[in-house]
Formats: sequence, C-alpha cells, structure tokens
Amino acid sequence: MSRSRLNASFILTFTSRLTPPTFTMVVSAGDVDRLFLQATLSRGVMSVELAKNLWARSVQIVNDSNSALKIQHNGSKDAWNEFLTRINRSIDKLDLEVKVLHDEESGREMCALVNTKGDEIAQLATDYTPAEITFFKGVVEQIMLAPHEAYSVSSLAALREINELKLSMTKSQGEILLASFVAKGWLLKSKLGRYSLSTRSLLELQPYLKSTYPDEILECTVCMEILTRGLACYTPNCKVRMHHHCFARYRRSSECPSCSTKWPQQAKDKPLVPVGEGAAREGDGRRRRAQTQDSSDAEEEEPEPTQEETPKQNGKRRQSNKNVKFDASMETDEDEEDESVPSQTQARAEGSQRSRRSTRR
Ligand SMILES: [Zn+2]
Ligand SMILES: [Zn+2]
Repeated sequence: MSRSRLNASFILTFTSRLTPPTFTMVVSAGDVDRLFLQATLSRGVMSVELAKNLWARSVQIVNDSNSALKIQHNGSKDAWNEFLTRINRSIDKLDLEVKVLHDEESGREMCALVNTKGDEIAQLATDYTPAEITFFKGVVEQIMLAPHEAYSVSSLAALREINELKLSMTKSQGEILLASFVAKGWLLKSKLGRYSLSTRSLLELQPYLKSTYPDEILECTVCMEILTRGLACYTPNCKVRMHHHCFARYRRSSECPSCSTKWPQQAKDKPLVPVGEGAAREGDGRRRRAQTQDSSDAEEEEPEPTQEETPKQNGKRRQSNKNVKFDASMETDEDEEDESVPSQTQARAEGSQRSRRSTRR
C-alpha cells in the first residue's frame, strides 16, 4: 500500500513543519510517538539528526500542552534507540518501520518510514501511471544487473527500456520521466549521466530489490547494509565489499579482513576495485534480465562498441551475503541536519579501468 494512502489522518495537520495539533482529548505521553510518526511520514527520507530533533520537539509540544506530564527527554544514543524500538513495535502490525540506512556517498545516517512488506513497487503508484512504473522497474533492473557491479546505467541504456518493454511513450517522454525519478529522489544522476539508486530507493524499495534480485544484492562487510557503491577486494572470489565511509572509519589494518591480501591506504587506490559507477565500462550497455524472469531474451546483445579485449561477462554475480541487516547503532560523523537528497554520485571518469575485474564472478 502506498504510504500516502496509508493513513490520511496522519497528514492532515502536518505539512513540513511540526506544529501542535488541536487536542480534543487529554494529552498523553503516547502523543509523542504519534507526533513523531506524523512528522516522519510527511518528511520522507531525512537525516537521523533531523529525526532526533523532531523527537525532541514532539516531547516539547506534548509537555507544553499538558504541564502535568513532564515527560523527560534524554537525547542519548541509547534513549534514541529505545524510542525507535518502541515506535517500530507500535507500527509493526501495519508492516511499517522507521528504518535507518547510511547514505552511501556521504556516510550520513538517514531514516524514513517504510513499508517492510510489499515486494512490488507500490510506492510510486500515486505519482506515476502503470506504464511509467514499468519503465522505472526496467531502469532499476538495468541498474541491478549492470555488469562488474557497476549498479548504474547510462541514459542511453535506460531509454532503451522503452522499446524493450514495448511502452507507448516517446524518447523525450522517457527523458522527462527519468528527470522526474531524479527530482523525486528515486534515482541519482551522476555527472557522467549515469543513473543509480538513491538512498530513498534503497530504503523504501528494499523489499522489492531483495525479492527481485536476491543474487545481486551486495552487503558491506563492515556495516552489513546494502551496498551499491564502494570498493571490493581485488582477490579473485573474495567477497569483501565496503562503503567508502566504512573503509575510512573502520579499516584498522592494511589488509583485507577476509583474505588478508595487502590493501592500499585509500579506498579509491588500486588495486582495490570500485563498486558502482566507477566499475562501469564501455560496452556494458547490453541488456540483461533477472533470472527469475523470462529468460528467452536474456542474452540480447547490443551493437555497442567495446574498448577492450576483455571478453564480455554476462554471468550473474554470485555472492553469499544475502541477508542484509541494518545496524542502526553505528556511529556517524554527521554534524549537519538538513534533509537534502543525498549527494549525487561522484562522477569518476574511470577510463583507466582495466580488465582486472574479469577476476570477479
Ligand atoms: Zn558499509
Ligand atoms: Zn579479500
């Protein structure tokens, strides 16, 4: 079910600003939770810092409305985690959860009220037609199945989905749609014009992604969260993947935590291998399909030029880290609290990217 259809009354009094509701009954401590949820629902994806401020403000509003209550507010990490656990317990029956996920670019802790079920993309249903959602899913598929763990797709390949899916829309309509997906925070567009999944998509569409692409979901070795950009160990078949911020924060030795090969000091240094846009190569524009779907046209070849002698790898990536867990307790360095859409992919011209990744399956 779409979030916005979920409970219309949630939205009635709340827009982007937390304002005291008109209480018709005695204000109780439980109103803090309700206020917080209302604010969270209307905000969409936001930083955890902002969420903590909304929590504090909710307590203040309730205390101001009923001076007898005197609810104590303790902004400690433990108190926040307790609060989040309580909130999530109360909305669990509705298959909802306030979920925390680190932005893959900045490492900032983000959160949103999300559906925990729903292996279909229903979140876009209020904004887009079924055909537009089909297009979105096609683009997401190309992102998830991008070779070499590039988790991104060129605009050319994205627009090709219109024909592949036999959608009745023009190329320029497709371009407008892609811009709309970016504007609404579902996709990121890099300086090189490649589309990838945003933190919003990774948060809100995770049940869909996990059920549709179970073999493509990578997990960060450090934080265990989903990973679509970062780095990989260069040892063939070593499963270690890390976000850049996790590499920076947690790497304590100069070797791979799994296979113990020597690692350079910087996450972007070779021979470490990029995951995400930096892994994309020319000639990767070929279309692939999820194994679970119609496989009759799985091996469509596109007449795109290749720049390298590397044999095209069309094999699915396989890896064992399937159970993506969230660790809401991780320390972060964040010091800001705006709610801007996560920064765009750092466009990296990886012209020097060589066929090293052919070692990876
Ligand atoms: Zn990580
Ligand atoms: Zn390794």
